[in-house]
Amino acid sequence: MTAVAEKLRAASALLETVSGTPRLDAELLLAHVLGLTRSDLLLRQRDLGVPASFDGLVERRLSGEPVAYITGIRDFWTISLRVTPDVLIPRPDSETLIEAAVAHFAERPPRAVLDLGTGSGALLLAALDQWPQARGLGIDISPGALGVARENAARLALSNRADFRIGDWADGVNGPFDLILINPPYIARNAPLSGDVLHEPQGALFAGAEGLDDYRRIAPQLPRLLSDGGMAAVEIGHDQRDSVSALFADRGLAVEARRDLAGHDRCLAITPPAA
Ligand code: GLN
Repeated sequence: MTAVAEKLRAASALLETVSGTPRLDAELLLAHVLGLTRSDLLLRQRDLGVPASFDGLVERRLSGEPVAYITGIRDFWTISLRVTPDVLIPRPDSETLIEAAVAHFAERPPRAVLDLGTGSGALLLAALDQWPQARGLGIDISPGALGVARENAARLALSNRADFRIGDWADGVNGPFDLILINPPYIARNAPLSGDVLHEPQGALFAGAEGLDDYRRIAPQLPRLLSDGGMAAVEIGHDQRDSVSALFADRGLAVEARRDLAGHDRCLAITPPAA
C-alpha cells in the first residue's frame, strides 16, 4: 500500500466518529495540504508523500470543524467557492434550486437574477456561470458574507455581471427579475443540531420558533419582484412544504415543490399567477 493510501485509511477510521463522509473528508484535507485537486491526489498517489501538517488538519476535523472551513474551499454546481466562517457552507441540497431554474428556463434563459441572502454568493454565481448573458444582484445583511461573495465573483471572473449590496431581504430592491434564488434561514430556534451547523453563522440558520420568520418577511415582497414568465426557487426544510407553500400561495403566487437527491422536499418553484 502507498504512503498516501495508508494515511487515508488511518485518517478515515479516526474521522468516522465525527463525520458521515470520513473517507471523502480525509481525501479533501490531504489534497489541500498537497495543493492538489482531489482527483489529482487519487491519480498521482504513488508519487506522493504525506506532509506532517496533515495530522493537524485531521485533529481540527476531529474537533468538529467543517472540512470546508479548514480548506477554505467548497465546490457547488459547476463552480468552486471560497468559504469562511462568515458564510453558510454551500450544500448539494441547494443545487436543487439551480436544477429547478434550469428546467424552468430551458427555452429562454433568464437575463436578470436576484439572490436574497447570498452568503458566499453560491447560488447567484452558479446561475451566472450557467447563463453567460445573465446579470445578477446578491443581497445579504452580513458585511462579512458580502466580502466573501465579492471575492468569489472576482475569482470566478464574474464581477462584471454580479453586483452585491447590503440589505434586509428585498427592502428597497427594484425588480423585476427573471430568476430569484433564496436560501433563507429556516431552522426552528430549539431544533437539536449536530455536525457542521454548530460551526456555521447562526444568523444564516435560525428563523424563529418554527423556522418560518424569514419566509414571512419574503413572501409579501416576491409578487412585485418577479417578471412575467419568471420564477423564484426557494429552499425549504424537509418538513416545511405545506407551511411555506401557504405563505406564498396567500400572495397569489403559484407554488410547486421539488425534491433533493435524498428525496426530501427541498425547493419551492414559485411563479406569478397565470394571467
Ligand atoms: N441546510 C441547512 C441544514 O439544515 C440549513 C440551511 C438554512 O437554514 N438555510 O443543515
